[in-house]
Amino acid sequence: MRYFIITYGCQMNISDSERISGAMKRSGLKPAKSLEESDLAVINMCSVRRSASDRILGSLPKFKGKTTVLTGCILPKERRRFSKFFDYVLDIKELGEWPFSSFKEKDYFRIEPEYSSKFSACIPIMTGCNNFCSYCAVPYTRGREISRPKKEIIKEAKTLVEKGFKEIWLLGQNVNSYKYEFSDLLRKINTIPGKFWIRFTSSHPKDFSEDLIKTMKECSKITPYLNLPVQSGDSNVLKRMNRPYTIKKYKEIVKKIRKEIPEISISTDVIVGFCGETKKEFENTKKLFKEIKYDMAYINKYSERPGTESAEKMKDDISKKEKSRREKELNEILKETALKNNKKYEGKTIEVLISEFRKGFLYGKSKNYKTVRIEGSEEMVGSFRQVKIKRALSWGLEGILK
Ligand code: SF4
Repeated sequence: MRYFIITYGCQMNISDSERISGAMKRSGLKPAKSLEESDLAVINMCSVRRSASDRILGSLPKFKGKTTVLTGCILPKERRRFSKFFDYVLDIKELGEWPFSSFKEKDYFRIEPEYSSKFSACIPIMTGCNNFCSYCAVPYTRGREISRPKKEIIKEAKTLVEKGFKEIWLLGQNVNSYKYEFSDLLRKINTIPGKFWIRFTSSHPKDFSEDLIKTMKECSKITPYLNLPVQSGDSNVLKRMNRPYTIKKYKEIVKKIRKEIPEISISTDVIVGFCGETKKEFENTKKLFKEIKYDMAYINKYSERPGTESAEKMKDDISKKEKSRREKELNEILKETALKNNKKYEGKTIEVLISEFRKGFLYGKSKNYKTVRIEGSEEMVGSFRQVKIKRALSWGLEGILK
């Protein structure tokens, strides 16, 4: 049997797909180069936005004649609907007990992943979430928070560094609530000998501690980049979203971080058109964007997910057109602030981890998670290079190899 995995969604799902691949291989299955060549199609889905579920149902004809498995983030309310169309609907946490598995492993974190990159890897440090933001599917699809033992994570990181990996992402829906002290985990990984970068995502502002800021400042391998989802620039909307912090508190955190780590780049996640979001409330988000001057923002138009609090108890009353307009307005502000932030790199030489070669150009990320485009050749992919920045754009930087 040859298998092919289709992954939707976030880095966590990408990481899970690497574990699915590891489990399949261990069970003697072979990877197929394309869906057409496969006998077994595994769809690792995402329920965060309605569009992702719709897309999966839209691609059903492509799976004709194959054994199909649906896994990943599946809302309990959608599970029954999906089970009509797929041979198996399986829980990712039970990966070691799937019907194709020739071994038994109760803890899916212990299954050795088949990494999709040779230089950058994601290590899940926890899964699930206890926060129940009113719009979010995750606590229902992934369940409550489970943290992996520190020892296991450090072992995985050490093995990766020994294999020559250059970038390690620590993943969790809310890494700051990692049960065995996130700062301590970072400090321990930072002591692993070798040249590599440590990144992490995602951070809930309510749990962001001074200790973490100190750790980021003191550990040289932790990159000066932070994704700090705000979700709305208005404290009343945050209340409706069940996000227990105020904009005042959020701004204080950003101020503290910038004071301690002045070179830090900050990105955010934000929802536009949340239930009842008035023009004034949206103006507050615009104001926050202008004030914080984000380097990057993942702007999402609100969509209802069945079973969540906002879907059951609130009204999705902002029109599609208005949501798109608000998204565009935030994008305009972001373009300006990102360009301004990027300008400060012009003329400077920075280190870049080259990640791909596309249409004659090398692309990579700087320590600050800036996308950098450079002229060069394919064999440089996977290496650190010194790059002199020639031009700043809103989406990233252009430079030449030193
Ligand atoms: S913190 Fe909120 S948005 Fe993030 S995964 Fe948990 S419930 Fe969802």
